[in-house]
Amino acid sequence: MASDRAYDGTSDELSDELPDKAGDGPARAAARRRDLAVRAAVEQGLVSGSDPGEPLVCLLDTAGIRASAQALTSAFASALAPGTPVLHAFAVKAAPLVPVLRLLADEGIGCEVASPGELALARAAGVAPGATVLDSPAKTETELREALALGIAVNADNRQELERLDALVAAAPPRSPVGVRVNPQTGAGTIDALSTATATSKFGIPLRDPGARAWLVGAYLDRPWLTRLHAHSGSQGVPLPLIAQGVRELHALAEEINAAAGRRQVDTLDIGGGLPVDFASDAATPTYAQYVAALREAVPALFDGGYGLVTEFGRSLLAKHGLILARVEYAKETGGRRIAVTHAGVQVATRTVYAPASWPLRILPYDAKGAPLTGPPLAQDVAGPACFAGDLLATARDLPRLSAGDLIGVPDTGAYFFTAHYGYNSLPRPAVHGFTVTAGGEVRFALARPAQSLTSIVAEAGGDLRDALRR
Ligand SMILES: *Cc1c(COP(=O)(O)O)cnc(C)c1O
Repeated sequence: MASDRAYDGTSDELSDELPDKAGDGPARAAARRRDLAVRAAVEQGLVSGSDPGEPLVCLLDTAGIRASAQALTSAFASALAPGTPVLHAFAVKAAPLVPVLRLLADEGIGCEVASPGELALARAAGVAPGATVLDSPAKTETELREALALGIAVNADNRQELERLDALVAAAPPRSPVGVRVNPQTGAGTIDALSTATATSKFGIPLRDPGARAWLVGAYLDRPWLTRLHAHSGSQGVPLPLIAQGVRELHALAEEINAAAGRRQVDTLDIGGGLPVDFASDAATPTYAQYVAALREAVPALFDGGYGLVTEFGRSLLAKHGLILARVEYAKETGGRRIAVTHAGVQVATRTVYAPASWPLRILPYDAKGAPLTGPPLAQDVAGPACFAGDLLATARDLPRLSAGDLIGVPDTGAYFFTAHYGYNSLPRPAVHGFTVTAGGEVRFALARPAQSLTSIVAEAGGDLRDALRR
């Protein structure tokens, strides 16, 4: 995709692709960048262990994001037959920030959107309609019409949506590639709420329901403008072979439709995203190369050039590159339990607070100057600022003793955490800064999202409508 460079940090930053000084891996280099960024964030006043400084800030490692994007594109490019069309569309819901979408566009990555808001963000980032895919289980007729007029790829979720598309296509020939989302019903992973390919998932046409497959093949034969097939069967907690099995089902269905049509009607497979992330360490595994290897084993024909490919990765592109940094405001002891009360809680780590067993996060302790905190481990709870007892990021976690004025870092939060703010207690959305580190170790920050002001909290809460209910 052609686009101007949003900000160019390629010349002098520490890069994941270059061997770093100590000869250790990219994960170690990323951890070192993170420690440098924490210290610099304190020195440059982005966050502070004391009042009136900022108690909470979020950081994104720009070089890490670029490296992940490059790992994705090269893993597929090296496996695919030369000249095979491929679009990697970032699932915007994972990090709905315009500068992030723009940075990814720099690396040739498009956008997968699932709401008018996400589409507006993709357009604001300058992502071309041809590099945008619309998937949502609840698209309105207006959304569908707009997408078809713009040339944005659409994946229909169900039979009724297909009927809506029939009417729109009859009124004006679509400028977009159109496909249907199928649910291969290959089974759940370890997190029910995120398992998309169960027998009863809310997404797509269920392939194994009685009569569904034959109906779907007929639906394609009746609609020559259906040229794509879509499945998104992975997610956190789903093992690679199970994801690959969903893609194998997708490929087999495309072959069946094309055989019935007597031509290559389905020309592109959208295999979704869903690569899990390691929240327990700095390791960036499984890697895209491992995923491609699992796909080659399960569906060798996927790479022979017979089909163009679309992918829709979210979490795996961004998660490892985000860090929440929060002040420990108080450290106290209650009923023999040690509690560090911090400024990071349910508003920035909603899933962890409500479903801690599924979404454990690491806690990295730093002192007030932003240096890693050391000391004998002591079981402590790490609490957030919200006014309910369960607002905890970690319980009985062994950490050096945390004191008021220290900082905690919460890594791996670049996707679905601080970018999916939860407005409980009217806690403000914190600022997000991207950072790059020069070869000399200097950290440069670039604001990617301003902190939400009190004025905007009041305005979004109907501040201008104060008397509306009294009339
Ligand atoms: C959420 C979503 C994705 C991205 O999933 P990740 O687990 O973040 O990679 C891709 N496609 C669809 C349709 C989605 O709903």
